[in-house]
Amino acid sequence: MVYGRLPARWKLGAEFQTYCEDLLRNDQRTRQELDEMQLGKLRLMIDHCHQNVPFYRQNFDRAGFRPEHLKTLDDLRHIPVLTRHDLRDSFDQLKAVDASRYQPETSYSGGSTGEPVRFLLDRKAIALEKACVRRHWLRSGYNDGEPTVSLRGLRLAVPPGEFWVVDKGENCLYLSSYHLTPNSIESFVSAINDFRPSLLNCYASSAWLLATLAEQAGLTLYSPRSIVCASETLHPYQRARIESVFKARVWDWYGLTELVGNASQCHLHDGYHVSMEQGCFEVLDHDGRPVEPGGTGEIVATGLHNYSMPLVRYRTGDLARATDEPCRCGRGSRTIKSIQGRITEYIETASGARLTATALNVHGDTWQNVIQFQYVQRSLQQVILRVVRGADYTQADERRILRDMSERFGDEIKLGIEYVSEIPRSARGKTPLIVKETEQAL
Ligand SMILES: [Zn+2]
Repeated sequence: MVYGRLPARWKLGAEFQTYCEDLLRNDQRTRQELDEMQLGKLRLMIDHCHQNVPFYRQNFDRAGFRPEHLKTLDDLRHIPVLTRHDLRDSFDQLKAVDASRYQPETSYSGGSTGEPVRFLLDRKAIALEKACVRRHWLRSGYNDGEPTVSLRGLRLAVPPGEFWVVDKGENCLYLSSYHLTPNSIESFVSAINDFRPSLLNCYASSAWLLATLAEQAGLTLYSPRSIVCASETLHPYQRARIESVFKARVWDWYGLTELVGNASQCHLHDGYHVSMEQGCFEVLDHDGRPVEPGGTGEIVATGLHNYSMPLVRYRTGDLARATDEPCRCGRGSRTIKSIQGRITEYIETASGARLTATALNVHGDTWQNVIQFQYVQRSLQQVILRVVRGADYTQADERRILRDMSERFGDEIKLGIEYVSEIPRSARGKTPLIVKETEQAL
């Protein structure tokens, strides 16, 4: 949500400016300096939780934890994790007794289950998040004030024949991704080409759709200096097509509506720098232990700036591959190797195996003439691949897809193809790669 409203509201006063300067300075700091900075912020937050937040006072007591036990960042693990259910069930208990001091606003996160969960966000946490986004955009080569195009799952109210709104103050062209079709693609491409954006700010699924339609129509797109994907998992097949059609690099951003932390790619596009100013990230296995470098686990995040409703060791539901290596670019921040999607987004087999988006990734020309696709698990034995065909799609494409994907699925699951005119989107305009359409035995 924060991301969708940039960049005009970057101008948030002195605090925002200070954060911007601090963040750029932190890019020059060593890992040890950043760890010390983060530990200092974490101690303040944990003291506050113990003194002012009833939920944590009780929780810490029950776990035998006291704030003075926090001597290193690793000591966080003595505090029990916080779930989305806790957030839903204990709103009042999680609210700090002095919450109004922090001028919070109420926000909601949708989540894949559909039921929105309510929480509070401090004004300062929002300002810092925007400063983090700005740092990411600057790293990608963007300069303040340059034109941007926003393509983020929006359904805009537009006059017939038009599919966008220009915000002159923000110097931003907002495209209505709901209107992207083979019939409208030419208008979209001319609008982008006329606007000549320095940066494209997008959902990966929307940018993939636009790139695919443009390529199939033989249209050439203006090449922005950078493309920032956010709010959805960016799959390798999406990156490949988006980069080749736009002839620009994708700088992926991983953020959380709850503002408990964020991470983003630098010019090496290899792993993600964690913004250590906003939150602490841990990558944990099923049993709550840190995974080994190279292993995959759930991101558990502790926000460092949200005092009205602190979220400590919050289970994000997002999977990441851990690493203990610093980035080769020389920035000192902690890193994660890759973001792998929602923990709930997988195909389950009768024998209990779980095929995630990463396991289903295929390279090469599998999706060559496909406009959009999505896996739908209908039972433990059956997965349907919904496909929106491009103009040049033939039987040969179908055979290739079934051959490539059947290798991934093995013998346990029967894969069928269903041709559709479009892939349904979630309430926020997202298009998950994997959905389940039955509760039966799953
Ligand atoms: Zn780097």
